[in-house]
Amino acid sequence: MANMQTFLKLRLVLMLFSLLGVYACQASTRSPDKAPQSASTCQSNRVKLQMLGVRGPEIMDRQASTSYLIWLDNKARVIIDQGPGSLQRFEQSKARYEDIQLMLFTHFHVDHSSDFPAYIKGGFFSKRDQDLPVIGPSGTKFIASASQFVDRMIGLKSGAYPYLGVFLDPKEQSSYKIKVTTIPWSYSDLSIKKIFDQHGITVKSVPVHHGPFPALGYRVELAGCSISFTGDMSGRLGAMPDLAMDSDILVAHNAIPEDAVGAPARLHMKPSYIGKLAKRARVKKLLLTHLMKRTIKIKPETRRLIREHYQGKLVFPKDLDIFHP
Ligand SMILES: [Zn+2]
Repeated sequence: MANMQTFLKLRLVLMLFSLLGVYACQASTRSPDKAPQSASTCQSNRVKLQMLGVRGPEIMDRQASTSYLIWLDNKARVIIDQGPGSLQRFEQSKARYEDIQLMLFTHFHVDHSSDFPAYIKGGFFSKRDQDLPVIGPSGTKFIASASQFVDRMIGLKSGAYPYLGVFLDPKEQSSYKIKVTTIPWSYSDLSIKKIFDQHGITVKSVPVHHGPFPALGYRVELAGCSISFTGDMSGRLGAMPDLAMDSDILVAHNAIPEDAVGAPARLHMKPSYIGKLAKRARVKKLLLTHLMKRTIKIKPETRRLIREHYQGKLVFPKDLDIFHP
């Protein structure tokens, strides 16, 4: 009897998920009225997007895991995700830790966040004296929220590296403080939120569907340009096209092939979906990253599937590549 009840509960949960899937397809064809508009023309020469890591979590071809760096007027200003190996790319990029004005995390899986404590330790030796905002989504039992992640890494009481807690605890002496903001993730509120607006940099976010893990898509606006990031997502919530509307660059994660099924297909978007997203959002340039063994060997097929929908510029970047919006 107990088994039957568990089975029925499971059926109910699965039905809810498939309903959400249907909603997502409908949501992705919403009208573009709510599209974020860039305030002015993009001053392309002032802005650079640099790849600090273009792969997923696998140990494979000497490229680092997910991380991106946005430069404004030749200063490194925003880091999006900090996967393993990306700090070394940050060093190679000649960016300075003290110039960073914002650290964004799409979610707190290892391949997006593990270099964080190494940045904080390395940054101890920098000239930084400005507070450092860190922003990421809320969590669940299976994945940390932004505040839990930072606390579990460097918290004075509960951190793996408590000796770095001086940068977090307001009572301790340090040259700057890390200021963490957790953005609530919810199926029920898919509206575009402005989550950062300082130093001429505006960031907007929406919840995206990455299986059971809360994750955020981001749009960074600066110097009249806009760069959007899907992070890891399946596309089921349908909010990303509106967020990315008319972006100069969209960075989309190409982690699965078109015929993927099961867990990978619940976590990630297929190439045809990426093509539809890029077309729907009218993005000017599409960068495909977070490649894995299952996608890296089929780039021509992926390109063909995307080309069925999207005709703009399409690139598979390498670590340290630089793009102007
Ligand atoms: Zn990932």
